Amino acid sequence: MARTGNKNIQAKLVLLGDMGTGKTSMVLRFTKGQFFDFQESTIGAAFFTQVLSLNEATIKFDIWDTAGQERYHSLAPMYYRGAAAAVVVYDITSMDSFERAKKWVIELQRQGNPNLIMFLVGNKVDLEEKRKVGNEEAEQYAKENGLVFLETSAKTAQNVNELFYEIAKRLTKKV
Ligand code: GDP
Ligand code: MG
Repeated sequence: MARTGNKNIQAKLVLLGDMGTGKTSMVLRFTKGQFFDFQESTIGAAFFTQVLSLNEATIKFDIWDTAGQERYHSLAPMYYRGAAAAVVVYDITSMDSFERAKKWVIELQRQGNPNLIMFLVGNKVDLEEKRKVGNEEAEQYAKENGLVFLETSAKTAQNVNELFYEIAKRLTKKV
């Protein structure tokens, strides 16, 4: 069997988006397989690592889970600078959080790193009956802005691993 050689990739990953959209829950679901109905708010930012194997590559994610409150906004560049991928999260039950996500996208586009892989993630799809942000609307926006789009639920785990595998897949294609 032809071998393409092992790849070891270390990648900085940042999660951005309004407070309460489920960023921490998503990371905890991915790294620990756990979910908490009363997740404590993140202060400043939290750091997690997780290793993922994909084909012959090993990807070590250094994950910066930011707080999302406006008062921590000035710290954000510290977390997205040098990042390989940015995940902008909104809550499908909150139009405000979607508008805020768009602002993050603009900020990321302006910071001038053309190699940054950007994801737009609509979380809390388990709350379909409370949905305010349409799937098509978000998908269209993502398409126009070159973002990879996914809807997830940290609660039911829907699409959470898929999100991180998708990131890994795109990172391994680049090296
Ligand atoms: P963060 O501020 O973006 O980090 O959001 P958290 O992870 O702290 O989550 C905020 C609240 O939303 C918590 O009460 C979580 O339990 C809840 N939450 C997070 N993800 C989901 C989800 O996918 N579905 C539902 N129903 N609740 C969620
Ligand atoms: Mg948090």
